[in-house]
Amino acid sequence: MNTSENPPAGDAPGQALAARRCPCGGGDVYGACCGRLHGRFAADGTLAAPTAEALMRSRYSAFALAATGDLVQAEEYLLATWAPETRPAQLALDGPADESGDDVHWLRLDVESMSGGGPFDDAGTVTFTAHFRTPAGRHTQHETSRFVRRQGIWLYRDGEVR
Ligand SMILES: [Zn+2]
Repeated sequence: MNTSENPPAGDAPGQALAARRCPCGGGDVYGACCGRLHGRFAADGTLAAPTAEALMRSRYSAFALAATGDLVQAEEYLLATWAPETRPAQLALDGPADESGDDVHWLRLDVESMSGGGPFDDAGTVTFTAHFRTPAGRHTQHETSRFVRRQGIWLYRDGEVR
């Protein structure tokens, strides 16, 4: 017998995922929140975040779902939403490397404040705290991220970790 509880590799995010609470903590289910943005990107490469905050949330969700293996296009999405001048060549989606080599588990996102970043802005910042757990314990990352909008598309530029 060779039974497995895991779905076949390469499946698109399924209905169970879509009905789960969105990792970004926006209060909606994934399918009606960050899943819409991830889905548009997966379908035809469209980057559809209407605001800097929506993009920030969808990027956090991509990190969170990559860590659990639920979003196969996470790395592509994170790179595509990164401004070319600061974009890394590739990402290590397992999060900060630790000695055990174990994955980071993203627990919660708190968006604390923002400036600009709206449908009529070309720049904006979002300040947030991301909570995560590693085998060493719980951690937080407090960051102010900067976003720019080019040809109507919001992109992550860089961030200041404090
Ligand atoms: Zn979301």
